[in-house]
Amino acid sequence: MPDAQVSEALLRARRRLDAALRQSGRRADATRLLAVSKTQPAERLREAYRAGQRDFGENYLQEALDKQAALAELEDIVWHFIGPLQSNKTREVAEHFRWVHSVDRLKIARRLSAQRPAELGPLEICLQVNVSGEASKSGVPPEALEALALEVAGLPNLRLRGLMAIPAPAETLDAQRRPFAQLRECLERLNTAHPERALDTLSMGMSGDLEAAVQEGATWVRLGTAIFGARPPRP
Ligand SMILES: *Cc1c(COP(=O)(O)O)cnc(C)c1O
Repeated sequence: MPDAQVSEALLRARRRLDAALRQSGRRADATRLLAVSKTQPAERLREAYRAGQRDFGENYLQEALDKQAALAELEDIVWHFIGPLQSNKTREVAEHFRWVHSVDRLKIARRLSAQRPAELGPLEICLQVNVSGEASKSGVPPEALEALALEVAGLPNLRLRGLMAIPAPAETLDAQRRPFAQLRECLERLNTAHPERALDTLSMGMSGDLEAAVQEGATWVRLGTAIFGARPPRP
């Protein structure tokens, strides 16, 4: 997709999101759009920025750090880490991102909390849950979620916001909705059991299943190809 088309694709994606929210009877600002920019060159992100996009999601640490350096003058970009996270990467994630959507182990959460620079304020955290039909092996099993959530909620430099999932692609709207409904029910159970720290975030839905995710209550949808076109291979 040539650079100039990013702004048009972004506009189409926003319209699609608006329509899904309207059809679901949800508020126009109930779901926010995260632009997933993995493997896209910095200039594509700059184009989306010019079209008003501020939240960007990246999966690969080194690539993300390179783009952050290239776009350093765009100071109000909000960077989200959404990829698998290993222990040896936590320090730079804690120092260079505002959100992490993919925490699925206490060890990773503890390191992020310990390594988060105090002056940046708490790191916003979603726990990745392995709902049925998950595309990968990542994610905490639903039966282990409450224990992990309680531990993570107690860590000083993190703010536990909610849950994230990456279900396998499914053909029909009903089949797409099922795992999203499961994730929403996980969140509702946590909030019923622990009303004192109500979680407000469901990070779910990608280019192929945005409507299903919005119907089930997504608060972030993570769109890559719908905004930037087909992804170039990783260098
Ligand atoms: C790549 C990716 C996306 C975006 O996928 P598209 O189908 O291109 O919209 C969303 N979430 C995660 C975690 C991803 O890795």
